[in-house]
Amino acid sequence: MLRLSKITKDYKVADQTVKALKGLNISFRKSEFVSVLGPSGCGKTTLLNIIGGLDKYTSGDLFINGKSTKEFKDADWDVYRNHRIGFIFQSYNLIPHQTILSNVELALTIAGIGKNERTKRAKQALDKVGLKNQYGKKPNQLSGGQCQRVAIARALVNEPEILLADEPTGALDTTTSEQIMQLIKEISKDRLVIMVTHNPDIAEEYSTRIIRLLDGEVVDDNNPFTTEDEKAEVAALRKEANDNLKEKEIELTQKIEKLQNQLKSNEITDKKSQIEAKNQLKLLKKELKKNNAKFEKDGTVKASNIAGESKKPRRGKGSHEKAKMSFWTAFKLSVQSLFTKKGRTILTSIAGAIGIIGVSLVLSISCGVRTYINDMQNDMLSGNPITISQTATDLSAMLNSATFTEKAEVIKKAGIVNVDSVIEYLVSRSDQADTFTISNTITKDYVDFVKKVPSEHVASLYLNQGLDVTNNIYTSFFEEGATEGENISLSAIKTIYTSVLKETKYAQYASFVTSLNEIFMQAPTDADYIMSQYNILSGDIATKENEVMIVVGRDRELTDLVLAQLGYYTQDEFMNIVWRETDDERYDASLDKNEFSFEELMGKEFVYYPNNTVFTRTGVEATPFTYTPSSDGFGEGLKLKVVGILEPKEETSYGCLQSGFFYTQALVDHILEENLDSEIATYLSALPDKSITSGFSQTGASGITYLYSYKYNGETHQSVGFVGSANAMASLMMGFFGGVSLDYYTITAQQVGGTDVPYSISIYPLDFEHKDFVRDYLDKWNSEETLEINGREVAASEREDITYTDNISIIISMVNSMIDIVTYALIGFTALSLVVSCVMIAIITYVSVVERTKEIGIIRSLGGRKRDVGYLFNAETFIIGLGSGLIGIGVTYLLSAIANAIVSSVSMISRIA
Ligand code: ADP
Ligand code: MG
Repeated sequence: MLRLSKITKDYKVADQTVKALKGLNISFRKSEFVSVLGPSGCGKTTLLNIIGGLDKYTSGDLFINGKSTKEFKDADWDVYRNHRIGFIFQSYNLIPHQTILSNVELALTIAGIGKNERTKRAKQALDKVGLKNQYGKKPNQLSGGQCQRVAIARALVNEPEILLADEPTGALDTTTSEQIMQLIKEISKDRLVIMVTHNPDIAEEYSTRIIRLLDGEVVDDNNPFTTEDEKAEVAALRKEANDNLKEKEIELTQKIEKLQNQLKSNEITDKKSQIEAKNQLKLLKKELKKNNAKFEKDGTVKASNIAGESKKPRRGKGSHEKAKMSFWTAFKLSVQSLFTKKGRTILTSIAGAIGIIGVSLVLSISCGVRTYINDMQNDMLSGNPITISQTATDLSAMLNSATFTEKAEVIKKAGIVNVDSVIEYLVSRSDQADTFTISNTITKDYVDFVKKVPSEHVASLYLNQGLDVTNNIYTSFFEEGATEGENISLSAIKTIYTSVLKETKYAQYASFVTSLNEIFMQAPTDADYIMSQYNILSGDIATKENEVMIVVGRDRELTDLVLAQLGYYTQDEFMNIVWRETDDERYDASLDKNEFSFEELMGKEFVYYPNNTVFTRTGVEATPFTYTPSSDGFGEGLKLKVVGILEPKEETSYGCLQSGFFYTQALVDHILEENLDSEIATYLSALPDKSITSGFSQTGASGITYLYSYKYNGETHQSVGFVGSANAMASLMMGFFGGVSLDYYTITAQQVGGTDVPYSISIYPLDFEHKDFVRDYLDKWNSEETLEINGREVAASEREDITYTDNISIIISMVNSMIDIVTYALIGFTALSLVVSCVMIAIITYVSVVERTKEIGIIRSLGGRKRDVGYLFNAETFIIGLGSGLIGIGVTYLLSAIANAIVSSVSMISRIA
């Protein structure tokens, strides 16, 4: 049943060839106890390994049940080892980190047997070798003899036909040896046992046949198995098989006859039982056919059906015999193995995680920054719309930015608005003043064109009329030492402060007062859009013509210069701020006023008077109009009420409104209605550049003038004032031609309401993506195509090019590409650590393979495939990799949370990571 024919085995070591086996011819019986005796190094183990399929012979052939193994594939050998061979070794070769039950189960696991069956059979095998109820113990908790029993149980659990034992008692004391030998003897009763030993006594005592080896050759065999014996054995087997088949044939035929008779004689009446019987009959007939197919034509059994022959190794799916370990089993084995070296596994996982943490953190932060920038973009849009302006100056932008950047922490109190000092800012930056101008001619056609901008892209459209209402709005003002206010215009207050500052040694600051034009501004019409960015602190949003609202800054601040020009400070209080900021000894801390209550802010009264009331025609050419700074004797005007105070929402960092005072579109309409045809508007509109410049020339005062008085140091001064805003260019030019440098003021028809074409248009796109559509639309105006505006064809020649301002686009795209570069660079660097991690896991796996060679050997000897061993380490690397990944992601989340907490506490970015 097992025959070696001219088996040789050469080992090549360096250039030398060791001939371990030199042409062995041995046959083994189906059941006998063979001892292989011989001195150390004679080739006993080599022989056993070749028989067991652990090693390949160099030449010759090994016949299993008459079948040559020359053509055996790896898989055939695996099945052979798993199903036909049981191994016992001198050193037991148990897997130390598994219980003895698991050790025994392993052979069945590899055979692909289910959990319950496996445990049952493993327990039975252990019971048989006398290890009942010790299933849960680990090998190191057992004695040597017990370990060898476990090994025997493992070898036998698959009920192999051949048991191979390599010096099974080599490491045991005499008494234990005897017990083990007794056990093996017992086993050899119904199978072939080949035992290697160098102990002749044991061989004599227990075995039925002794083969002596010397230098790779058989020197003696006391009970050889001849060819005749073998033929006799095969014949016996054939007879047994034949008898069995015949018996089965008879049995099946009888059963079929019986059923057929029952059906014929109508013994079965029940319809259901009839069907059942018929089905059974079919099955039986099939079985009979199958049985009879096992006979040759001459009535003898086919060779393949003789006991043993039938167990020839088969491969492929559907075969009952296969050696196979599931990945799940490999996974469990690896988990157990990793558990025995927790420290190393954890360290490896952590090291592996570092690369992952690096990459994911970089991605997380770059994603966070990108999201933030996206949000910011949309937020910035509200503060930086696309603007089309007749002329644009960025001085106000400079002042605006100061209110955001030049700030210390301000404690918010209910009902209080703090004061942010522009004067302080200007004092610290008195050398910075730059102007930048764009000019466009905005026509009615253009306004109509812009109004048609596709509404799906636009959040709000704001037409600023560019009025200067400071000449027309009057409020009470407390001049130096006054206990009672007098009603003068806002432009008069400004002029008084300019003059007063010029009296001091800080004359250079006077120009700052005049540079701050926008103290009373036109609010956008779209209340919903405003409310999406601002909260109401008090009152309500202004909508009517007589309503005004105040917008405070982020820290609930208003600037002192604005408040002063609106008459909220008395002259004494204002001067006190100047003294404070210039470290003048006249500073009196008790006069400091750094807070205003909501009531104070909302309680102040403003009155609007039309142009024809405040400007008087003179008939003099040089000074065509005089202006009345005091409203005494004006009679009824339009009373303006402050109806609400607004504050930017937490998430609004820019917003469509700067801080200051705002009047409504309704007031604009009212003003245009009253003033479009007013005397001064008509006059200015008729001038070539629709504006007039006022000031002192060599011939005296010119332009639109007025007389006013102011107090300084207890003295009253009479002075000539000029209407309009300071015109730096005019000052320079006139100063140059006139030989003296003086201030000049300009007022335009636009500012007095002499035109209904807006001064500037702001378009707030819905978000950043939509902005491009808006730009595309606006670009059409400058294109060559003919546009249809209000049902009228407007050719390209009729249109003058308009330049719109869109500052943030450039900045944002620059920032975005910078983030990209930084992200890629960082990922590149951190990816390096990922490579290092991979190399390290590879090293650890290699070390693990080296460490677990014994386990690999055991699995192989039990019939485990090379792939099973592969599974084992793949599972191990998978676990480490998974561990690394989980740690990496976990730590990244943690670090992200920490980063978010830190960043959000020092900035407005809530989720940087
Ligand atoms: P035994 O088991 O009888 O003590 P072995 O079968 O282990 O002897 O060894 C037989 C001979 O083959 C020895 O000379 C040994 O050195 C040699 N040998 C065994 N295994 C290898 C191997 N893997 N590589 C090289 N030589 C080997
Ligand atoms: Mg040996």
